[in-house]
Amino acid sequence: MSKFVFVTGGVSSSLGKGLTASSLGRLLKSRGFRVTMCKLDPYINFDPGTMNPFEHGEVFVTNDGGETDLDLGHYERFIDENLPKLANATTGQIYSSVMQKERRGDYLGHTVQVIPHITDEIKTRVRRLAGDNVDVVITEVGGTVGDIEIVPFLEAIRQFRREEGRENVCYVHLTLVPYLAPSGEHKTKPTQHSVTELRSRGIQPDVIVCRSDQPISDALKRKISLLCDVPIEAVVSAIDASSIYEIPVLMHEEGFDATVCKILRLDEEEHPIDLSGWEQLLEKMALADDELRVGIVGKYVDLPDAYLSVVESLRHAGYHQRAKVVIEWIAAEDVNERTAEVLLSGLDGIVIPGGFGERGIEGKIAAVRWSREHDLPTLGLCLGLQVMVVEYARDVADMPGANSTEFDPDTPYPVIDLMDEQQGVTDLGGTMRLGAYFAQLVPGSQVARAYGETLVTERHRHRYEVNARLRGRLEAAGLGCSGLSPDGRLVEFIELASHRCWIGTQAHPEFTSRPDRPHALFSELIAAAAERAQARDPHLFELGLDAAL
Ligand code: GLN
Repeated sequence: MSKFVFVTGGVSSSLGKGLTASSLGRLLKSRGFRVTMCKLDPYINFDPGTMNPFEHGEVFVTNDGGETDLDLGHYERFIDENLPKLANATTGQIYSSVMQKERRGDYLGHTVQVIPHITDEIKTRVRRLAGDNVDVVITEVGGTVGDIEIVPFLEAIRQFRREEGRENVCYVHLTLVPYLAPSGEHKTKPTQHSVTELRSRGIQPDVIVCRSDQPISDALKRKISLLCDVPIEAVVSAIDASSIYEIPVLMHEEGFDATVCKILRLDEEEHPIDLSGWEQLLEKMALADDELRVGIVGKYVDLPDAYLSVVESLRHAGYHQRAKVVIEWIAAEDVNERTAEVLLSGLDGIVIPGGFGERGIEGKIAAVRWSREHDLPTLGLCLGLQVMVVEYARDVADMPGANSTEFDPDTPYPVIDLMDEQQGVTDLGGTMRLGAYFAQLVPGSQVARAYGETLVTERHRHRYEVNARLRGRLEAAGLGCSGLSPDGRLVEFIELASHRCWIGTQAHPEFTSRPDRPHALFSELIAAAAERAQARDPHLFELGLDAAL
């Protein structure tokens, strides 16, 4: 039977609920428990798929094609499990499924209400993740206590304990303990208010995680313990860490997982923690001190969360090659023929991430032209591949004005096009290709060597594809289509045999990189970037470039 942990937050948003939940997931998994995770999002949108990345950050894509909250990316990276799209539920989804049931007559004419119908639906979503093969379901409730939208969610998780039994449910509440410089003190009042708010919804927290910039003293823990009515060992200090991957270890030292095990009556003795793998990762991170400068040429560079998984993937690859990756944010709109040299020449590599819409496209094309002409290691992701193809078509394959029909419907050379426009090729229509798809790699190609295999699967999220009718011309001009869909119709990977690393993928490999298992394509980019850096400064990477640590 599964047990349930619910993580709520108070005082302020962005305190790191997702990372707290993920860290707990890692710790319980490191004790040998089978863990899965879930995010309940109180906003009304059906899913983040159509939300502006400026507002909401990255859309994380699951294997089964869910467009989900970016916290699922943290969950997957920390607990190293592929989550289903069901692991993210929004108010929009919950209401829409209740409405469907109402229209079908499932409620037999009863008045449909927040309690019990909406709350039941919320509980069903969480319970669907439980089962014989799961010991603990950790659910993060988005938003902060006190928000209007969160009320049905708090009510649903409150009911959980009554239904599942006291020892099968644990409530973790994350709050802020600010430090006030003038009085030289950490303040507990916001925590008290937040817990009062939670209690007004009928939930008494079992564990209080206190975010603060400095460790909080035992005296302060005692105060919080007294005022919020939790045992002192259940007051967990969560200080700012220099890397998110240190958080599980810091929280373990605070006794977080041991306390949760006690509350849930999970046998700690029988499940001693083994953090050796994770600690090895931290050791590698500590050794990674030679800097590599990697540019991300994107549209949403003012909100780095929009490229969260890309940044993490670059870092993962760096750790394993003793490289500290320094991200240079380059607004695509700033790049053109004149500025490219200035903006890119100091870099060791660039990534062109995914995106939608026309803004910045010509800048991305200018960037990949410069990178191709100067053999700057380049990795194009989804839209990134598409701009590489457009650039190659225009400049090498003699197709002036080539473009994607997403940006120029009248282009004379629609090298990137909607699938249904490519007559007879497929019937995907204008819908998104979402989730994991197989690709067959060309034996001996750079990507096949990087992956170490020729049949790979990667997650997708796009409408447009390389135009099958123009592919022959691109290939004749030297563009390597080094990975195709298994039926041979869709281009999944491109590369240039003449270049150290000028690789594009129609997929989103950033969603499957893990801190202790970097993704092959990011490792390839970082290896090429390190070689370039070493050529510039032979003292860099003296210990070697392999991942042999
Ligand atoms: N806008 C492009 C498409 O729809 C690329 C999408 C992406 O980069 N995720 O195909």
